[in-house]
Amino acid sequence: MAQVDVFSLAAAITALLLAAGLLIAYAINRNLTSFGWWAGAFALLALSLATVTMRLGVPAVWVKWLSWGSFYAATCLVAYGLHRSGDTRANPLARMVAGGVLFVAIATALTVLNAAPHYWMLFGPIPVLVFMVWSAALVFRAGSWGYGLTMVFGIVAIAIRSIFHPGGFSRLLNPPPPPPPVLRGGFAPASNPGAGIPLQQPPPTARGLFDLAPPPGPRPPVEHALTITLITLAALLVLAIALVLRNVMAELNRMRERSTTDAMTGLLNRVTFEEAAALRLGETGLRPVCAILFDIDHFKRINDTAGHAAGDQVIARLGQLLREMSLTHGISARIGGEEFAVILAGSDLAAARLYAEAIRSGLSSADFGDAVGWGVTMSAGIAIHQPGETLHGLMGRADEALYAAKAAGRDRVVVASDATAAAHRPGRAANRVASG
Ligand code: GH3
Ligand code: MG
Ligand code: MG
Repeated sequence: MAQVDVFSLAAAITALLLAAGLLIAYAINRNLTSFGWWAGAFALLALSLATVTMRLGVPAVWVKWLSWGSFYAATCLVAYGLHRSGDTRANPLARMVAGGVLFVAIATALTVLNAAPHYWMLFGPIPVLVFMVWSAALVFRAGSWGYGLTMVFGIVAIAIRSIFHPGGFSRLLNPPPPPPPVLRGGFAPASNPGAGIPLQQPPPTARGLFDLAPPPGPRPPVEHALTITLITLAALLVLAIALVLRNVMAELNRMRERSTTDAMTGLLNRVTFEEAAALRLGETGLRPVCAILFDIDHFKRINDTAGHAAGDQVIARLGQLLREMSLTHGISARIGGEEFAVILAGSDLAAARLYAEAIRSGLSSADFGDAVGWGVTMSAGIAIHQPGETLHGLMGRADEALYAAKAAGRDRVVVASDATAAAHRPGRAANRVASG
């Protein structure tokens, strides 16, 4: 009949539930690569917890191998999951193999020496601790203090459990005293003649650390095991929740980045630009506000003669220029194929013109090597925001200025005159930026 410590079993069931939760999360979103590995890790942890105090019909030593082996394997899967998801850069394979060899060496030694169970409790976690200390050192060296401290927390929790578990180190140093000898006979109270009177207790004999025989006496009370198991379980839960939350937050950030930025240039996309620009126009603190529209000249020719990849290279280079030369209160975006928009808050027309000229000459002096065999030029249109004007109106006037720059021969910056602000003329501009 199997004998199970109910608290370890409760911990095992919790770990199993966590494994199931992680697996479901991974099935819903396959981008959460690490969750797949962690589901495996928690399943192994559940196995380890379920077997750690279980007495099955099989020789106990095989249960120990299974318990501590699966505990070590669970640690490896957590580290590997972190590595696969890109959270930690260092490949854990070398650490995994080293810890595995250490585990086999320790488990073999304990098996050959026929060591008592508390030695397994004491030496079983050592491969995990070595692995985690090694990993924590790498994580700290890479500057990830959050991960490092989480790992230190895990290391301390495992060490505490191993040292203070009633079946481990504490039992080794404080063996329960043997039952006191009793003197039977005439000294027993008349009410209970069989009880006897305890003699003075002999001092407990000191035990050597390498005495491999199990300590005498009954196992310590289950309440200690309960406290320590619950503390360890709480520590593991906090660890797991911290890791899961961190991963979910990272994934949310990645998703937000994908939905708000343009992948080729890293600038804002059109929708996000419109939202941010409309907000900026509503702010009264940074006046005046100018809008600039850029459009690469004869871009179709670049695509047709030099190829689409060369065209992409030009777009990426212009994106890089705009990122590198972005101003504190500026908003830069790729709003179309080879069309870019910039909002400059706190800049007048003269400053906006200087800025646009700098970007224009930056692109025309860019060297594309053999990819594009001629100088790439670009035109720009600028408009300054008028009181009460919508984003739609402002971008429309900037677009008209851009159109004028194209008509005047391209490779130039044209500023919309104030006269165009007075008469709002919806034209092709209306197609560029949706109503703001
Ligand atoms: P203009 O001087 O009048 O601006 O002439 P243009 O040839 O640049 O004309 P237009 O601005 O209309 O051309 C835009 C072209 O950009 C059309 C489209 O095939 C191309 N394009 C749009 N997006 C991309 C992209 O992501 N990569 C590449 N390589 N080409 C793109
Ligand atoms: Mg265009
Ligand atoms: Mg163009």
